[in-house]
Amino acid sequence: MKNTVLTATATAISDSVRALAAADFSGLVQAFSVAGFTLNQPGQGMLQIVSSSAPAARMSVLLSVGIHGDETGPIEMLAHLLDELAAAPQQLAVDLMIVVGNPAAIAQQRRFIEADLNRLFSDKRGALQSVAETVRADAIMHATAAFFARSAAPKWHLDLHTAIRPSHYPTFAIVPESTIEAGKQALSLTLSLSLTHWLAHAGVEAEVFSPQSANTYSSFSARECATVSATVELGQIGALGQNDASLLAQPQAALAALLRADPLVLSASAAVRLPCRFKVAQEIIKRSADFRMGCDRNTHNFTPMQQGEIIASDGESVYRVQQAQEYIIFPNPDVRVGLRAGLMLVRQD
Ligand SMILES: [Zn+2]
Repeated sequence: MKNTVLTATATAISDSVRALAAADFSGLVQAFSVAGFTLNQPGQGMLQIVSSSAPAARMSVLLSVGIHGDETGPIEMLAHLLDELAAAPQQLAVDLMIVVGNPAAIAQQRRFIEADLNRLFSDKRGALQSVAETVRADAIMHATAAFFARSAAPKWHLDLHTAIRPSHYPTFAIVPESTIEAGKQALSLTLSLSLTHWLAHAGVEAEVFSPQSANTYSSFSARECATVSATVELGQIGALGQNDASLLAQPQAALAALLRADPLVLSASAAVRLPCRFKVAQEIIKRSADFRMGCDRNTHNFTPMQQGEIIASDGESVYRVQQAQEYIIFPNPDVRVGLRAGLMLVRQD
């Protein structure tokens, strides 16, 4: 599909980045087919690269990007990573699924077309039953469940995002609570690695444990497919081709090591700084058009607030900080009525 916006800035964008952003896997299919892998495309923007001969112990890894169409840094990073791997395909040591979440929104450089895709990974969709993104969420959920059902080996899902606003921790992960135990599973017979250690290798500075009820993609995979899952926020939004690759070098290296099951790089005993741990204290839900929030566009993620401070008001009701200190993430008063307008966290360690 031709896209005028991407074509206009094409000089700054490598072919592999442009192809992945357009959900075009033809180069990867060619390279990995020749190397003897089984390739499957269960829908637009979805590619599975599975070993034809490896034993059942081979780990399954799902990497998703572009669930929000304007979050282009992870698309660039993954394109470079897959490019490198396609040059030495035998190094791929896991069964891999790639999902480019919302190609239509990526093409328009928008977060979404009609509704936030990352609130639709559930059958509880309220008023959002008939938006364009529900069809996409259904297709992704179906292919994801089928991919993870193939094997009983360890399963990981890393959903790669960038945040809208600046953050006290530039990189952080939202981890569904069920992953805490599942994350202790051995990575393979020769390598034991927890999600927390992988996040540390990726330079992720904070880990937020979130309840199962969320309708995000990583919550879906953790809940329905028993995967070790995380939504990983890798810095801030930028235009395709204009992201600073050096900021993504560390997560890219950690992903490369994961896909190669490289024990030297991923050793749990390596000297890395473990992320700070937070858990969700309260969810701020926008209940009406009267919803007002104290934060503006410049409020950093993880800004601390003190007990009693007003977080938001919604007609008669007022959200206040309940614990001695809570930290706000994802404050966004512009979401639709009925959706989450922010999360309040407390430190866990
Ligand atoms: Zn996002």
